[in-house]
Amino acid sequence: MPPIGQAVAEPSFEDREVEAEYTLEYPVICPCCDQVIKVVEVVRLLRTKVHFTSTLPRRGRMIVCPSCNKVLSAELAGFA
Ligand SMILES: [Zn+2]
Repeated sequence: MPPIGQAVAEPSFEDREVEAEYTLEYPVICPCCDQVIKVVEVVRLLRTKVHFTSTLPRRGRMIVCPSCNKVLSAELAGFA
């Protein structure tokens, strides 16, 4: 474990920009930060590890508050 305060190198995540942003039909209040938000960010979930008998879908998405960066919703595509 690195000492507290020391930067941990994770450049691939830090440098990555949000791939998609969606404008809401009308403003809503984020349940996490209580800010009025007019857009949400969408982060793709890409399956990187799975048991070979798994029937879980390959992809999904997370909806993230652009203000506090907390996850508002997450789902797997086609998951019944
Ligand atoms: Zn928020």
